[in-house]
Formats: sequence, C-alpha cells, structure tokens
Amino acid sequence: MKKRVGIPRALLFYEFEAMWKTFFEELGAEVIISPETNKTIKDLAVRFAPDEDCYSTKLYFGHFLYLKDKVDYYFIPRFGSDHEDNVGCPKFLGLAQVLNSLYPDFPEIIMPYYSQAKANHGKKRILKIIFQVGFKFSLNPFKILKAGLRAFKAQEEHEKQLYITEQKLEKWSKSQIVLNGKPNLENRKKPMKIALVGHRYVLNDELSNLDIIENLLQKGVDIITSEQMPRKLIEDQMEKLDYNLYFSNAREILGTILYFLENNTIDGILQLAVFSCGPDSIILELASRYSRRLPDTPLLQLVIDELTSEVGFGTRLEAFLDMLDRRN
Ligand code: SF4
Repeated sequence: MKKRVGIPRALLFYEFEAMWKTFFEELGAEVIISPETNKTIKDLAVRFAPDEDCYSTKLYFGHFLYLKDKVDYYFIPRFGSDHEDNVGCPKFLGLAQVLNSLYPDFPEIIMPYYSQAKANHGKKRILKIIFQVGFKFSLNPFKILKAGLRAFKAQEEHEKQLYITEQKLEKWSKSQIVLNGKPNLENRKKPMKIALVGHRYVLNDELSNLDIIENLLQKGVDIITSEQMPRKLIEDQMEKLDYNLYFSNAREILGTILYFLENNTIDGILQLAVFSCGPDSIILELASRYSRRLPDTPLLQLVIDELTSEVGFGTRLEAFLDMLDRRN
C-alpha cells in the first residue's frame, strides 16, 4: 500500500505546491492535500488555533486538523529563506514544531529545515533534505535523486507560467490580454484595471479573500495580482528603497504597490492584508505613506480575519469602485 503524505492547503503550499507534490508522487507516495478552505476547516481553525495567531496561521491549523485521520505523514517544511539577506515569516519556521508539540499523537511531521539567510544553507543542504526525506519512501537512491530533480523542474515550470514578462504586462495594461479571467462588461464600456496585492495564500484562497477575484470580474474589473508581476520590476522597486525590506513575501507586495503608484498605468490598487500579521502591519503603513506621496493611483487597504463580514467587505469594495468610476 502506498504511504500517504498529507499537505495542508495553506501558507507555503501556495508557493511550492508543484515541487512538493511532484517529489512525493515520483517517490510513489500518495499525496493528500486538504481541500480548499471550507466552513468545516474554518470552524476547526477558529476553535483550535491560538487566538493570537494571524488569520492565515489559524486556517493552517484547520487544514492540519482536517487531515488527521487521512494520512501517514504530514509534510510541513521549516522554510526560512532562499535568499542570502531576506527571510520568510517566522511562522513558516515555527509552525511544524508548534503543531508537533501540541499534537504529539498525530502522524509524524516531516519537517526539513532550510534557510539560506540564517543558516547559510545551499545546494548541499537541499541534497541532504532530498535523501533524508526520500529514504522514508524508497530505498533506491537513484529514484530519490530523480524525484528531487523532477520536483525542481516542476517548480521552475510553474514559476515560468506564473510570473509574466514585462511585454505581457504591457499587453495587459493595454487590455490586449487578460490574466485572471474575462471581466463582465455589461455595465461598462471598458474594463477597470486593478492590481490585487497580498499574500499568495490569501489571493488563492476564496474563503480567505471572500471570493474577491470573481466579485471584481463580475463588476467589470480586469485584475493583475502581485504574484504574477515580473520579478525584475519588483526587485527594481526594492533597489530604490534606502533600506532592505527584510521579509521576502513583503517585497512582492510592496514592490507591486510601488510599481503601480509610480507608473500610474492602472485605475487602482487593492491591498488585502491579514489581521495580526507582523509583516503586513509594516507594509500597510509603508504603502499608505508612499500612496500619499504618489496619490494618482488610489490605494484601498482591506484587512481580513475570521470575523470579516461579506457585507461590510462588499460595501467597501463597491465604494472604492464608485470612487474610481467618478475619477475616470
Ligand atoms: S506573513 Fe503574516 S499572514 Fe503570513 S504567516 Fe506570517 S504573520 Fe501570518
């Protein structure tokens, strides 16, 4: 019988799905990913996660608990960074150990540690992880190495698909292509252009973001998300800062906001932040300061948590779109 590896559909899953899934499937394991966040998962999250955790970490608890009787192992890497200076959120590092100590009777958590910035990890460490994890599923070193190589290839292809080129961004700005579905133009002559920015696990989780992409499309909005932005444009914006923005995911978010504030090629920017997120509290403040300096492209910042009501959220969204319409 195949060994079952459970991966909670939350946090870093939305960044590394292709790599993790390919690796375990190539090793012959059955990969069980928790479903899209639903009411059951949210209820588990709210009931069992520590009150002081950010909303996204609470949802991680929900996904973790949902998988409990369905898997032989959990896979929750302790991922610090793949950059020499910048790091991920400390939650990504600590979560596996927290869950392990809170639920010692649950299936084993496979939790390889990797951090280029803090531990100077590199290729050697990656190889070590591939074999340490791989030997739990196969005794064949060639099969393990092949699984590792295929996993990296899959991730590379995923990123190639996800990150658009600057040429594609220009085409999107001119409405020659769409990137996230076709806007409904029943009530407008041309689509409104909006950049939707936030953590990948918020942008891709419909329950977290209250189905915002579909909602905007129905209102005739043409969307680009921060995760799709050309990497070079984000790094160019970061270079202009006179400080190093330490958190890697914050760079993607602030870089996208700064790019559109500076270039003024779209109608508005919508930032989704997570309640009680440390990095978000910094980016919210920075983004709002830069937006006051460069006010031509309006910025709306919405903070979400488990208590966010669809009605209140929808009203603020509509008021923002009305304001953009009046400006136009
Ligand atoms: S970056 Fe923010 S939202 Fe994401 S896990 Fe860390 S604290 Fe939570």
